[in-house]
Amino acid sequence: MYPIRLCLLLFLSTIFTINAQQPKKLNSSEIYEAVQKLNVLGSVLYIAAHPDDENTRLISYMSNQVKARTAYLSLTRGDGGQNLIGSEIRELLGVIRTQELLAARRIDGGEQRFTRANDFGYSKHPDETLEIWNKEDVLADVIWAIREFKPDIIINRFDHRRAGRTHGHHTSSAMLSMEAFDLANDPSKYTSQLELTEAWQPKRLFYNTSWWRYGSQEEFDKIDKSNMLKFDIGVYYPSKGMSNNEVASLASSQHLCQGFGRVTSRGSQDEYIEFLKGDPLDNNNDVFAGIDTSWNRIKGGQAIGNIMTKIESNFNFVDPSTHIPKLLEAYKLLQNVEDEHWKAIKTKELKVILEACSGLYLEVSANNPHAAPNSNVGLRMEVLNRSTANINLVSYNLSTLNKGISKNMKLPTNQRLNFEEGISIPNNMAYTAPYWLNNQSTLGMYNVKYQDLIGLPETPRSVFVDFNLNIEGTPLTITKPVVYRYSKPDKGELYRPFEIIPEVSASISDKVFIFENDQQKEIEITVKAGRDSIDGYVQMAYPNDWSVFPDKQKVEISNKGDIQKVIFTIIPPKGKSEGLITPMVNINGEFFTDELIEIDYSHIPFQTVLMPSESKIVRLDIQKRGKNIGYIEGAGDVVPQSLRQIGYNVTVIKPEQISPENLSNFDAIVVGIRAYNIVDELKFKQKFLLNYVKEGGNLIVQYNTNRRLKVDNLAPYNLNLSRDRVTDENALVRILEPNHPILNFPNKITIQDFEGWVQERGLYFPNEWSEEFTPLLAANDKGETSKEGALLVAKYGKGNYIYTGLSFFREFPAGVSGAYRLFANLLSAGKENKTQLKN
Ligand SMILES: [Zn+2]
Repeated sequence: MYPIRLCLLLFLSTIFTINAQQPKKLNSSEIYEAVQKLNVLGSVLYIAAHPDDENTRLISYMSNQVKARTAYLSLTRGDGGQNLIGSEIRELLGVIRTQELLAARRIDGGEQRFTRANDFGYSKHPDETLEIWNKEDVLADVIWAIREFKPDIIINRFDHRRAGRTHGHHTSSAMLSMEAFDLANDPSKYTSQLELTEAWQPKRLFYNTSWWRYGSQEEFDKIDKSNMLKFDIGVYYPSKGMSNNEVASLASSQHLCQGFGRVTSRGSQDEYIEFLKGDPLDNNNDVFAGIDTSWNRIKGGQAIGNIMTKIESNFNFVDPSTHIPKLLEAYKLLQNVEDEHWKAIKTKELKVILEACSGLYLEVSANNPHAAPNSNVGLRMEVLNRSTANINLVSYNLSTLNKGISKNMKLPTNQRLNFEEGISIPNNMAYTAPYWLNNQSTLGMYNVKYQDLIGLPETPRSVFVDFNLNIEGTPLTITKPVVYRYSKPDKGELYRPFEIIPEVSASISDKVFIFENDQQKEIEITVKAGRDSIDGYVQMAYPNDWSVFPDKQKVEISNKGDIQKVIFTIIPPKGKSEGLITPMVNINGEFFTDELIEIDYSHIPFQTVLMPSESKIVRLDIQKRGKNIGYIEGAGDVVPQSLRQIGYNVTVIKPEQISPENLSNFDAIVVGIRAYNIVDELKFKQKFLLNYVKEGGNLIVQYNTNRRLKVDNLAPYNLNLSRDRVTDENALVRILEPNHPILNFPNKITIQDFEGWVQERGLYFPNEWSEEFTPLLAANDKGETSKEGALLVAKYGKGNYIYTGLSFFREFPAGVSGAYRLFANLLSAGKENKTQLKN
């Protein structure tokens, strides 16, 4: 499906970036700022590892005060973190964070780049990070970003000299930047990139240091700062009515899924960068020392500079259209400039200025938010000239057609023109979903097939219109992506990106199905039409030793957007087994196997994502004792649903319902993650929980952090939480007490049960406990001492108290069978002498 896309890309990625919310229309102050920025030919690349690492104060300062072309290269899209505003995790969280970075850049004026590195979760050391990432590939992508963006200055957020003292991704970003600085200009390195761009040597590399790097402001005040530059990032911008740090706070507040919404700040504030490499600094505190950042930088630039500096110093805020003739003169001169890099950047900027000065309104809106290849869409164009300039619409070109549509008409002042065109989406047009999710990724890397896509924040839009204009005798083409414009009575006018989606997509009701015995389960598949008149059938792909009934189900959907649900029966094998199931929708012999996921938040553009539609099916070899489980919820996890999947009756107990009578109904009580950090009532209810244990109950407490615990007595005996964690999900687990009942009843636990774990072994393990506790397991990350607090058991009265930092809450949704078997043993503690309950 890719041929069309590739030939468009080279052109598209440099012509416009997508702004899918309401398209920006510049006011006079903004046009003036754009003119100021047009007159600076300097650039800054800021490098770190994650969305939210970037110092928006410095990015905004470079972009809005220095007026440099400024970009943030985030090595990852932040897939590994937690989502505080919704249920999306992993790849979908990466999609949200990508958009939050773009939203931040729309505020601070920067651009956004990425590499293929996948945020696989917390990493203690860059050695581990660079082993899980493909170091060579991430380095190649940093070099690619440098060669493409051609920064004069690079600023690292992190210190390359602090391995092991911060997140391994952080130090890695700085180390890779240091290496890339030395390699980007070597034409013998990463030569295939040079078919698409040129080698480039940045002038200087800095580290964005801070007092906290030195422990305290006092210590920082004492150090020699002769190799540092200082900026007052609290500078005030009258044209914005805001201080730089205020703009920066607004930008970083876009990271809402990380809980970064915050109040703004103002006033003078110093920011330091430490010189690391490149041409030495001069005495003028000038980050660009030795680089001419005026128009004189490029051959043929001086004449343009003469025109543009006059416009800047005599800017007409009342009627910016008076500058059109001179702007066109500069535009024509710019087209003859030899330096292709600056020519492309400045042409794009100048077109935005010309469009804004002439009050042009150009928009193409589709009559539908999405369309499938091979289907028809109606487009409505609005063309309006809100100045007295002489502007003709010569023609427009639709990207789905090879020829232009001739118009040859004058655009009368403030007279709106509308045109309608029906287009047909070509059969081979690529989907517009996030490109980095198109191919199977690894733990450490996204797999992107085309070099020209690598680093782009979004998939370039393939449906757009070129408006070929003639402004005061000068031909000028302005390109607009197709958008979907609509309204909601309670929201007003809204915009969405126009998406190319598959004819049909299918989703499965759950991501994991656990079979605790050989009983069959019915699962529901939802098929969604991406066009009218879908007629075909669904069948399932599944592992050999499983069975699915029936073979096929008919699908007939009349209207685009409608859904049909079908049920398949999944029959597990007798013994343990696991694999994947995928619904395959067959339409006229072509199979569709993707799920369409929509992400809708008001601070980012609407997102349409395609992911392989698949669920894990697991036939466990598992024995259980006890049936009724009480669950006290903490920060939120899917442990209750997971336990229900293996046949337990799980009742969520609200804090106010915790009473001796109520607790006595349960075979075991499980406390959700971080409950003792966030549930205030536990302060008063803990005595009932401990008494429940004393009377013969079985209490299982999952991880809490050691800060801000609501109770003094987490356990009946002394138990001290620490920050010890084992982040390597494959770290060897040593069984300390092989004969302990919890490791033998009713399931015999062996090291095989620790295979296939995801993300980590566990976190916030206790590091001190009284002698009543028995530690059952030990593990550690490479180069660290053995951590023995992952699973601690103590007898208390007639019952059992169990504390575990093992990441069951991560393993259950991933269908990790050993985690289920071990947890069944925790729930069965103390029931060795009771008869087995029938399922
Ligand atoms: Zn970070």
